Amino acid sequence: MSAPQIKGWCPGALRPMASGDGLVVRVRPPLGRLNAVQAHGLGEAAQRLGTDVLEMTTRANLQIRGVANASLPELHARLRDLDLLDSSPELEAKRNIILNPFRNAQDLHHEAIAAALTKGLSAPDMPALPGKFGFLIDVAPGHRHLSGISADIRIESSGEGFIVRADGADTGRLSTSVADAVEIALQMARWFITSGGVGADGRGRMRNHLAHGAQLPADLVGDAHPSPAAPKAKPGLVAHGLCVAAAFGQLPATHLGWLADHAPGGVALTPYRMVLLRGATRLPDTTDLITDPDAAVMNVYACTGAPGCPQGLAPTRDLARQLATSLPSGKTLHVSGCAKGCAHPGKADLTLTATGQDQFDLIQNGRADGRPIRCGLTAAQLIQNPEILSQEGP
Ligand code: SF4
Repeated sequence: MSAPQIKGWCPGALRPMASGDGLVVRVRPPLGRLNAVQAHGLGEAAQRLGTDVLEMTTRANLQIRGVANASLPELHARLRDLDLLDSSPELEAKRNIILNPFRNAQDLHHEAIAAALTKGLSAPDMPALPGKFGFLIDVAPGHRHLSGISADIRIESSGEGFIVRADGADTGRLSTSVADAVEIALQMARWFITSGGVGADGRGRMRNHLAHGAQLPADLVGDAHPSPAAPKAKPGLVAHGLCVAAAFGQLPATHLGWLADHAPGGVALTPYRMVLLRGATRLPDTTDLITDPDAAVMNVYACTGAPGCPQGLAPTRDLARQLATSLPSGKTLHVSGCAKGCAHPGKADLTLTATGQDQFDLIQNGRADGRPIRCGLTAAQLIQNPEILSQEGP
């Protein structure tokens, strides 16, 4: 088995990524929201030019798969008309910003910080950042809603104000205003580059940089703790509307416009494989969308796998779907098409990593590249005997 290939960058709309089923085109809606016109237009574009599915990513973006090279100009034109296309691939790559989707309509700090940060990142003297390097804005007073979400520079609420915190540091520097917070964040990004955070392969993350001994300069260090984390978001009713999930983040493209029609305040994208329909209280019954907070499939992660991903050694999602209902209560399951573990980079209670066309390693309390306790399990074996998942290793 060859080692999985690490690309070190995320696809965009202007810089799509080739995959086994065509181009992957990732759309990064400004401020993490879509109005009804954008939602209908994006859904139609995916139906016409992609595989009829919109993937909800862990960076609160939507991606279209299976786009032919020849269809890209038409897709770009449609996205441009919808105000969903950046002016350049460079800006698109830098504008890697996740906003708290559960913010109040009155809380304009998120938008103000995102706008100023985007402007600063697009300045000619701002150096390029590694492809996966990103920012997060989570400044609603009281609680953080994105505490478990990966981002290298975090602008978060803290007491009565907000802080800028390098990922991997426990505390951050208190900022006095939106402009001050953005300036600190941009300084931190520059420091990351000048202090050697980017490797020879062009990759680099803040958490690793600090873990390897890099010391933030005194003017970027602070002693303010971020606000406590809010409970993890689930499908169902929340303060600002209705959270609607789709298994494995695979949203049928036909549904996006329809969902927006039920969201008077627009559609907010979350990094939790679901969208928030702002102002919605209920949705007509559908079989392929999830509003039940206890839906078993929400504890299951599965990547594209074979044949859609060229690195996929086996199909993943059918197996994951079939195992979801027999999963021990409260346990998480990750079915990965190879050891790269794209769908769930962290640990899961149970992980099945494909090692061949119909061969899986079982890893308990680990990542997709962790040490297996069982090898060579087939999909049929697992479906017929799901208790294998909970057994102790030999
Ligand atoms: S983890 Fe899945 S999606 Fe990622 S490279 Fe492997 S097979 Fe492809």
